[in-house]
Amino acid sequence: MIDVVVIGAGLIGTWIAYECANRGLVVALCDQSDPPGDGISGRNSGVLHAGLYYTPGSLKAKHCIRGRKLAIDFFENYNVPYMVCGKLITAGEPSHADDEETILKIKANAEASGAEGIEILQNPGRMFPGVRGKLALHSAGTGVVDAAAYLKRLYRAAEESGVTILAGRTFVEGHAGEVTLENPAGERETIQCGAIINAAGLESDTVARNFGVDRFEIRPNRGEYFRLRKNLDQQILVYPLPHTDSTALGVHYTFHLNGDSYAGPNSIWAETKADYRVTASREEFHRSLSRILDGYTLDDLQPGYSGLRPRLFENGNAIKDFVILEQPARVVHMLGIESPGLTSAPSLAREVCDLLLGEKGI
Ligand SMILES: Cc1cc2nc3c(=O)[nH]c(=O)nc-3n(C[C@H](O)[C@H](O)[C@H](O)COP(=O)(O)OP(=O)(O)OC[C@H]3O[C@@H](n4cnc5c(N)ncnc54)[C@H](O)[C@@H]3O)c2cc1C
Repeated sequence: MIDVVVIGAGLIGTWIAYECANRGLVVALCDQSDPPGDGISGRNSGVLHAGLYYTPGSLKAKHCIRGRKLAIDFFENYNVPYMVCGKLITAGEPSHADDEETILKIKANAEASGAEGIEILQNPGRMFPGVRGKLALHSAGTGVVDAAAYLKRLYRAAEESGVTILAGRTFVEGHAGEVTLENPAGERETIQCGAIINAAGLESDTVARNFGVDRFEIRPNRGEYFRLRKNLDQQILVYPLPHTDSTALGVHYTFHLNGDSYAGPNSIWAETKADYRVTASREEFHRSLSRILDGYTLDDLQPGYSGLRPRLFENGNAIKDFVILEQPARVVHMLGIESPGLTSAPSLAREVCDLLLGEKGI
């Protein structure tokens, strides 16, 4: 008998499977892709967020701050390449009258959420050549991870803990206690299980509907990146001040541990859940980047890659926080796990296992 079937082997589903197996449960983890890992978890900024922007007390704030620490423990134990490089949020140029107020608000928000290592810098370009603006917030605890290496290592750790990975198996239908999966040849298999976790990312609304949860909709929101021909002298992430009406953080400078650097991501509604085009113009990205950094010409930008944010709507209304919903009993849906999902994954996994192993047991 299988205790838990997890649908979706991105970072969220794989962490949940790994955590459940480490707590003694028999776990199967299925993914429609073979090999898995080409969903949201394979197309992001790879930033280990420190928890600066999220509403104190929200699931995003709680899981980002706890998840960051748990993720670093995993990286240390399993030799995953990462770097706590720090991040600047700069007011950039031209400056605005309310820049200082905005920066102070982010600092207060970060501290109320429990984020550490935050300070205000005057003229950040003096310490970090190339960075524009008179004022910035520095977060010493923000980092980057090699997201592809992370996911690969996590699959291995999950298997070592006893998780059975069923790659190339699509969830087609289910009820509490039972899921039916289909392989690429169209053959179906029904598995009896104690609990089901829906961690299907962009498709988590479709999977939820199968269990009678029909008030949620995931609309794909695309984040596009342009690759940069040159890097800053120092390895630091540089962001603009965020827009308050969006959960996107604004086009920023980021680097991957292989040495590539990128500007992005922007925020555009995608046409489908597989719409990975890069449609923004170089001019638009160059304008955004030039507000925060000096020295980049148009020729320094070339189209890179894109990822899709799983923006969540409940009865047509936008939901800004993660949603963890058990409905019916023993079926848990992970909905709207956009950024900071990569950072939060180990902490979300703990919460889901606590839920499964709580009062009622599995
Ligand atoms: C542009 C962008 C930048 C981001 N940057 C950051 C960042 O810097 N830091 C950060 O912390 N977070 C970031 N995130 C968020 C983070 O990447 C996600 O929260 C996280 O990767 C979500 O993982 P997941 O497992 O929920 O989804 P996924 O990785 O998409 O996994 C879901 C899996 O479900 C499978 N699936 C779907 N339907 C079925 C089915 N019917 N049957 C079987 N399998 C199915 C899919 O194949 C997929 O593998 C970013 C996201 C985006 C889009």
